[in-house]
Order: sequence, then C-alpha cells, then structure tokens
Amino acid sequence: MRLDKLLSNMGKGSRNEMRDALKFGQVKVNGCVVKSGKLKVDVVTDEVLFQGQKVTYQKHIYLMMNKPQGVISATEDHHHKTVIDLLQEDVNFYNVFPVGRLDMDTEGLLLLTDDGELAHNLLSPKKHVPKLYFAKIDAKVTDLDVQKFKEGITIDDGYQCKPAELHILSSNESESEIELVIYEGKFHQVKRMFEAVEKKVTFLKRMKMGTLKLDENLPKGAYRELTQEELEGLV
Ligand code: URA
Repeated sequence: MRLDKLLSNMGKGSRNEMRDALKFGQVKVNGCVVKSGKLKVDVVTDEVLFQGQKVTYQKHIYLMMNKPQGVISATEDHHHKTVIDLLQEDVNFYNVFPVGRLDMDTEGLLLLTDDGELAHNLLSPKKHVPKLYFAKIDAKVTDLDVQKFKEGITIDDGYQCKPAELHILSSNESESEIELVIYEGKFHQVKRMFEAVEKKVTFLKRMKMGTLKLDENLPKGAYRELTQEELEGLV
C-alpha cells in the first residue's frame, strides 16, 4: 500500500496533511525518514512510525456502542441525530455502519463496523444469532406468556416468530421486568411480541448479540473497540 494512503487510512490526517508531515520528516519506515508518500510499504512487515508512534494497519474497525435513547441507528437522517454522529473524528473516517437496528427509544448494545461480511453473517436469518434484551413491561407477565413465547408468538402481520426464551425477573400487577432471547430480527420485534399478548414494552435495552455482551462500564452514548477475544467470538 502507498505510504500516504496507509497514514491517512489509519486516521493520521488527510492526504494533503500527510504530504506536509512527510516533507517535515515526521514519518519513518524501518528506521529511515521517508519524504515521499508514493513509497509502497508492506503493511505487515514494514515498521512505520508517524511522529514517533507506531502505525498499525487495521483493515476493519469493530466498535461496541452503548446506544442511548433518542438517536437513530442509521448512517444518515435529516431530522434526528444518528449513532454515526456520536463517533469522534479518530474513527469516523472508517465507513462504519450499525449492524442491525435498534429503535430510537431502545438503548444498549450496538455493533458498528465497516466489515460487510461480518455484518451479513450476524444479520442473516439463516444464522439464528441470539439477541438478549432486558425489558420493562406495563403489566404482569405470566408463566402462560413464557409458554406462548416458547411455542412461537404470532405478531400483527400474521408472522409466527421462532420460539423465544422469556424469563421473568420480577412481576407484579402493574409492572414486570423480563429478559428475552430471540433468534431473529423483525422490525420492532420485541414490542410486537408483547403486543400480541396485550402488553406494552415501556423500556427496552439490548444486552447481548451472539457472544458479544454489552460492557456495562460504557456510559450511554460511549463506544470502544472490541477486544481481540470479543471479535474472535463473533466471527
Ligand atoms: N425489538 C424492538 O421492538 N425494538 C428494538 O429496538 C429491538 C428489538
């Protein structure tokens, strides 16, 4: 890869800024100052330093975000803030997109990446990737509901959902807290499943997707790169 392309792709600045940085001797390859961005480097074996810091080539980026309510999980929207608007400049030069959608009022785990293949695998209906949600419901969730979810709830458009695992965490006449694992991702699925048993979701948070668990230390709206272990669990 061309040296200037590597540097700008890894977020060190624009191609023009890289030309200046190179001119001022701020870039070294294998210990030698290089002034031309045209130099071809081997991204695996060559050691590239930018302002004394090692530049490590990364083909794709994988971010875990704790999505807050009030933002849209899309790359662009004319009326609302999107999850992409929450990214800082150091990562938003990657063409990241959210893997799947969470409603505007849903919070929790959202994976953002520029790796289309991984996204496709996680979203493919054939893969049955489990998604764990925590929810508050405006009514008493019963063992009968648990049974209905296990058998496959039929939602408003006549679609019969795949068996889902509903766990009641607490339940009284006016409110319940539950955990739900679903293996598909229809539009508003969790809300529609509860509507089918005449109950309303008042709060929804995604906790897990496949093996990837929301890092509870991430404040709402914050994000971090996946660890190697988290990434290996997903692919
Ligand atoms: N199900 C919903 O109803 N909403 C979401 O945001 C995710 C799953």
